[in-house]
Amino acid sequence: MRIEFFGTSHGVPSDIRYCNCIMLESDGSRYLFDVGAPAADLMTRKGYPFSSLKAVFITHLHGDHIGGLPNLLDLSNWYYRDSAYRVLLPEERGVTLLQQYIEVTSALPLREALALSSFEAGEIYRDEHITVRAVEVAHSPTVKSFGFLVECEGKRIYFTGDMCHDLHDFPTFLYENEVDLLITELAHFPVSLLFEKLATCKAKRICLNHVYPVGKIDEALARRAELTGELFAACDNDIILL
Ligand SMILES: [Zn+2]
Repeated sequence: MRIEFFGTSHGVPSDIRYCNCIMLESDGSRYLFDVGAPAADLMTRKGYPFSSLKAVFITHLHGDHIGGLPNLLDLSNWYYRDSAYRVLLPEERGVTLLQQYIEVTSALPLREALALSSFEAGEIYRDEHITVRAVEVAHSPTVKSFGFLVECEGKRIYFTGDMCHDLHDFPTFLYENEVDLLITELAHFPVSLLFEKLATCKAKRICLNHVYPVGKIDEALARRAELTGELFAACDNDIILL
């Protein structure tokens, strides 16, 4: 499988980073995890047909995680009419928000092939390529927030989404169950707190994403020898082959 970073910034884009958006590709099928980046534009520039998109998973309804989604959905609805994918959102009001966007900006009703739905914790998606489980975290008192455990091609990846400032919601299953890749945010807590969690975490590779301030990347990488798993930081357009 191939993981490509469309956006690796924290809540605000920079001159070299879009907001959070990660694409996973397996056997020609594509999946997006958060759409803070202009994913429609990036799919087009990279030559990825909209018809290859199978599902979009949103960790929470903050703008830096959904900002690119209305345009992706709108173009899929009226122009790229061979596209057919699910959009899984953590709250029903997210579904309503997107339905209203399409209603207000387009004369066309939302096609049935673009299926919006909300989810709760647990298994939320399964097809011939991937299985996705949502794990609830305590990022914000005003929006429901999740991380995603993805199984694909016999490997396991965990996307943390955004977590709480004291990291009490760092998923405990990561201490017992090995993951091939952990993609973690580093915007809402200090490097030292993350390292406390990572010290006993069974992740073969740990990828830093959504980091604020970006100086924390160097601070974390300077301590990489403390970890058993390989630690690295993602930049926009980076590709990981698993
Ligand atoms: Zn965020």
